[in-house]
Amino acid sequence: MTAKRIDGKAFAAGVRARVAEEVARLKEGHGIVPGLAVVLVGEDPASQVYVGAKGKQTVEVGMASFEHRLPAETSEAELLALIDRLNHDPAVHGILVQLPLPAHLNADLVINALDPAKDVDGFHISNVGRLGTGQKSMVPCTPLGCLMMLRDHLGSLSGLNAVVVGRSNIVGKPMAQLLLGESCTVTVAHSRTRDLAAVCRGADILVAAVGRPEMITGDFVKPGATVIDVGINRIERDGKTKLVGDVDYASAAEVAGAITPVPGGVGPMTIACLLANTLTACCRANGLPEPQGLTA
Ligand code: NDP
Repeated sequence: MTAKRIDGKAFAAGVRARVAEEVARLKEGHGIVPGLAVVLVGEDPASQVYVGAKGKQTVEVGMASFEHRLPAETSEAELLALIDRLNHDPAVHGILVQLPLPAHLNADLVINALDPAKDVDGFHISNVGRLGTGQKSMVPCTPLGCLMMLRDHLGSLSGLNAVVVGRSNIVGKPMAQLLLGESCTVTVAHSRTRDLAAVCRGADILVAAVGRPEMITGDFVKPGATVIDVGINRIERDGKTKLVGDVDYASAAEVAGAITPVPGGVGPMTIACLLANTLTACCRANGLPEPQGLTA
């Protein structure tokens, strides 16, 4: 069996097109322009690339983009003052603080200073609690993107066995909460899990968010399972730098029913969901109905 390749790049383009349509409707019908502010502290090269891509795609869907690039030596007080200004700025509906922050800044303190309604990354403690208790929240972008692709591919997820490998606050835990919300039977595996391969072989849905290149091989996969590979790992192979996931695509695709590739799977969905979250936040802030299918 060769698995169906779930094309995250095409899916993300569809989400962005949908967001762009809704943005145009907000402008024409209500004179509202959704705005996303991205805050970057320091010169981390990967973060600079992400922030650039986010700003470009924000503008492409017709939203306003506000970029705040601050020097690495910015103090906590200065950063908190900026966040306070953005919290109170009516043109800003979403705020994203690019992580990681330089070591002298307390990321938890900074994230929890955001207005939870503008926390489009879904990392504020109030949004984490809301997601955990099944209340309306801002949902972290990467797991939201995984959920959208799973719904699209499988329809109802109810009753399926889901295994999430990884228990980080930004991917593994919120992913597990979302799958529980879809009435899956959820197992969260991690570095102390015994016989990981056997645990994974019980999964109808297998989500890998580990950060270890190609660790999940075909013998971890139940025949016909849907495999979502969140991992992004840079490796050297044949003298070239290559991007690979946490799943060994070649062997897993022999067994799975469907699988996301790396690159071109979950990655493009993350920014698309950031835009979807900004649109959702804007609709909520203005008391307008939320577009269907763009949130959990
Ligand atoms: P973290 O390093 O925060 O978490 C990794 C998790 O994997 C931990 O819970 C860890 O367990 C678990 N783990 C590590 N080694 C093993 C092992 N040998 N067996 C089982 N579990 C293991 O990573 P993130 O969640 O932040 O990211 C995971 C991956 O997803 C990375 O490759 C990252 O680059 C990628 N990523 C991709 C995004 C995208 O847009 N597509 C966005 C965010 C992340 P323990 O808790 O016990 O240490």
